[in-house]
Amino acid sequence: MKQTIIGLALCAVLAWGVWQQRPEPVQNDVVHRELFALGTLIQISVAGHIEPAVMNQAQAALTDLETRWSVLGDGDLAQLNKTLQTQTSAPLPSTLQAGFAAARQLCLDSGGRFDPGVGDLVRLWGFDDEDHFRTTPPPVDQLNAALQQRSSLCDSHIDPQTVVVDQVPARFDFGASAKGRAVDEVIALLQAAGIHNAIINAGGDIKVIGRRAQRAWRIGIRHPRPVDGRTMLASLEVHDGEAIFTSGDYERFFIDNGVRYHHILDPRTGLPAMGSQSATVLHSSAERADAAATALFVAGAQDAASVMQQMGVDNWLLIDANGRLHASDAMRARIPDLASQ
Ligand code: AMP
Ligand code: MG
Repeated sequence: MKQTIIGLALCAVLAWGVWQQRPEPVQNDVVHRELFALGTLIQISVAGHIEPAVMNQAQAALTDLETRWSVLGDGDLAQLNKTLQTQTSAPLPSTLQAGFAAARQLCLDSGGRFDPGVGDLVRLWGFDDEDHFRTTPPPVDQLNAALQQRSSLCDSHIDPQTVVVDQVPARFDFGASAKGRAVDEVIALLQAAGIHNAIINAGGDIKVIGRRAQRAWRIGIRHPRPVDGRTMLASLEVHDGEAIFTSGDYERFFIDNGVRYHHILDPRTGLPAMGSQSATVLHSSAERADAAATALFVAGAQDAASVMQQMGVDNWLLIDANGRLHASDAMRARIPDLASQ
């Protein structure tokens, strides 16, 4: 009898403990929509109710942004690039003006490490289009020629209805910032429709507003070289209005003679930046986070802190080519798991 009473008491204590640890009840359902745009799978998740019409608007905005900023096809940027093949000056359509001006400032802030003026180099390396995919680096003379004749966006003039470049042919590629700009625009669209709790996940690059029920949104940062099934480097809570973007050498690459040639180019050499495996930036602007992650990847460990300071980024982390982790104090404070790395 005594044993039964002790057993029952123990069960009651355990049940109380389990009840105490239960997560707070989820008050609202999360509504998801998935679509393929800007070269990646995009998931929009909204905690609470969202009118299907608003989700459709968000989807239409993403499709429109993709057409506008793609280097392929005959959208606004593709047409502008066509003009810049033969003329040093081209009319800048109103749909591209703000993005061009923002990217030029980001180019300057990054000391030219983020520079959409790498368009011809990206094309030469075959990273602009699956149809151009290569398995060996381009010939050195072609690379040198493309490097000599490229026009940096930092040095281009935007008036703002016209863009003037140094020399032709010129080609701009916004692959390193257009996704961030699109994410900012879709979040603004949701907010204008009265949505206060949402997350957009664009192929692992994220921006959030509000919370998921009573909890913060929690996300994982991908490990650039997963080992023993460990695919995440760390996880962290992302708060209202924060974006977190990662650039990695695992996204688009080929391996030739044991060397990994990937899609993040150092605009100063025309070659893939070899000092990093992945770079992650957290900032309130997804566009700045996107451009800064690319710039951080190009900067590498040595210049990381100074370049991030110039770009107004407090929270960053970098995995260098040897797999060593470097992070700002602010980022370490947000991710206690990093203490052991
Ligand atoms: P991300 O994954 O955001 O780092 O962007 C990489 C993409 O941006 C590449 O696929 C290229 O289209 C383009 N790109 C590559 N290197 C640079 C660079 N240094 N600055 C700006 N854009 C770049
Ligand atoms: Mg980027």
